[in-house]
Amino acid sequence: METCLFCKIVKRELSAKIVYEDDDSVAFEDINPKAPIHILIVPRRHLATLLDASQSDDRLLGHLLLVANNVARQKGIAERGFRLVLNCNSEGGQVVFHLHLHLLGGQRLSWRPA
Ligand code: AMP
Ligand code: ZN
Repeated sequence: METCLFCKIVKRELSAKIVYEDDDSVAFEDINPKAPIHILIVPRRHLATLLDASQSDDRLLGHLLLVANNVARQKGIAERGFRLVLNCNSEGGQVVFHLHLHLLGGQRLSWRPA
């Protein structure tokens, strides 16, 4: 999608600190990190929200979780622990409408989303 920020990062039209990529996904550092390690994991293909995924995307959705595994290990936070967050739509706090997982870690995380 032409105007989508994360599509532009995927297509290298906008710079980002990419930490991992493969045929189906790209992972890059969040520009405004909420934890010492804050990586965004996105599918290359534009899906606006999780609600736009269908049964045929089951492999892709599973793949994004496995990418999170790999990147957590790569960043040295796998054993200590980390959090994955997926915001969906307005009340979920989604701001960028290209499906993404937040991988957060590097410190003990609090748990008070509301
Ligand atoms: P969400 O609120 O779940 O839609 O998260 C969007 C995230 O994208 C936020 O954590 C932003 O800091 C991050 N973000 C916005 N623009 C960029 C960018 N150009 N490069 C990297 N991260 C970005
Ligand atoms: Zn997009």
